[in-house]
Amino acid sequence: MKKILLIQPSPYDQNHMPIKKKRLYFVGLAMPLLAAMMPEDWETEIILEIMEDIPWDTDADIIGISSMGHGVIRSLDIAKEFKEKGKTVILGGYMVSIMAEEATKYCDAVVVGDAELVWKDLLEDYTKGTLKKIYEKNLEKGTLSTPLPRFDLIIHKNIGDFLPVQAGRGCPNTCSFCSVACLYKGHYIKKPLEEVVRDIKQIKNLGFKKFLLLDDNTFSDREYLHKLLEEIKKLNMEWMSQCDIRIGKENKLLKELAESGCTTLSFGLESISRESLVGMNKSWANPAMYPELIENIQSHGIDVSTEMVVGGDGDTLKSIKMTKTFIEENKISVPRFYILTPIPGTKFFKEIKAEGRLVNDNIYSFDGTQAVHIPKNMTPQELTQAYWDLYKSLFTYKSIIKRNILRKEFLKKPGKYLFYSIVNLFYKYQIKRRITPNIF
Ligand code: SF4
Repeated sequence: MKKILLIQPSPYDQNHMPIKKKRLYFVGLAMPLLAAMMPEDWETEIILEIMEDIPWDTDADIIGISSMGHGVIRSLDIAKEFKEKGKTVILGGYMVSIMAEEATKYCDAVVVGDAELVWKDLLEDYTKGTLKKIYEKNLEKGTLSTPLPRFDLIIHKNIGDFLPVQAGRGCPNTCSFCSVACLYKGHYIKKPLEEVVRDIKQIKNLGFKKFLLLDDNTFSDREYLHKLLEEIKKLNMEWMSQCDIRIGKENKLLKELAESGCTTLSFGLESISRESLVGMNKSWANPAMYPELIENIQSHGIDVSTEMVVGGDGDTLKSIKMTKTFIEENKISVPRFYILTPIPGTKFFKEIKAEGRLVNDNIYSFDGTQAVHIPKNMTPQELTQAYWDLYKSLFTYKSIIKRNILRKEFLKKPGKYLFYSIVNLFYKYQIKRRITPNIF
């Protein structure tokens, strides 16, 4: 029997060591989906590196490695090491998809975009010994069908109390720094509704009461969303997802979301500077409206979590400092930040390179924790320092208590906010060691 080893890599810490945790809360969907597409005469093993060691002496015929966000550097290093051992290595995921040519240097084949469309061909080519360097196929229609994920391969591991589901991929927006926009070019591709419901039911049948809807922008197709919410409501589960902050204007939809069991939504707010947002091709977002929108979402019983970047064209050292006040005043329980990074392949990378503002082209520096471009209103060194200072200022005991305990929702759901406080304390520990908090 042939064997494939699928690895979800862990990002590096500041000492270039893979970050390790005892438990992984946010399990990716890519590996359980790939496992579901393996023919019956293949054995499949999944390794979640953040809490498991990579079996370097594996007898697997193929090593499949995903690449998400900051973990991409680790993905390339693992690929290199297995190549040196003579293994056949396949790389896939967002990050290698937008830098496929570069990624081919580290492996035998790169899967660009949706693996479901090419996986069968790739395995056949492997068997015939005719593996190509890049596998890429565009969807003919606007829908994508996926198999039932093989969660049986991961639920015995030390994971959180929820599993991932996906209803669609891509996003109708085209923010210049975003790898999703780079890959899907403003398109949103849906899964058939019955498949999404099938996947959620599987999660429920496995004994989980919560799920994470992994879509990049869950609210891209309203008609589809309404039908999906009706179905989710019947399943009586709790769920979380991410979307566009403008949802804060829509009371009817917020009510439906809350009634369907949605407890937390994450928003890429990026910046409190309008000029920075315009520079990122995100002019549809208006930071002056953020407080009102956040308050309305919270008033419907849905928690708001945020992802922001510093170093946009409108950011100054003062505006980065003021971000602390914004986060505290809006009671954001678990805020996360990155330094705006020109990821190769994105529009932002091309712009920064053309303007001669790229100061570091070492791919190992592109991890969102150090400035690799010259911002408009500060030096790269000042930006890196301001980033870490912002994190430190928000992860003090005083700020953690202000954002999680001293809020009206605390008395209604003390367990939830105490859990967020513990997450904050863990982030505080990481920030002290210059490890940027992320959802891995
Ligand atoms: S809204 Fe979010 S997912 Fe969509 S393009 Fe912008 S950053 Fe990317």
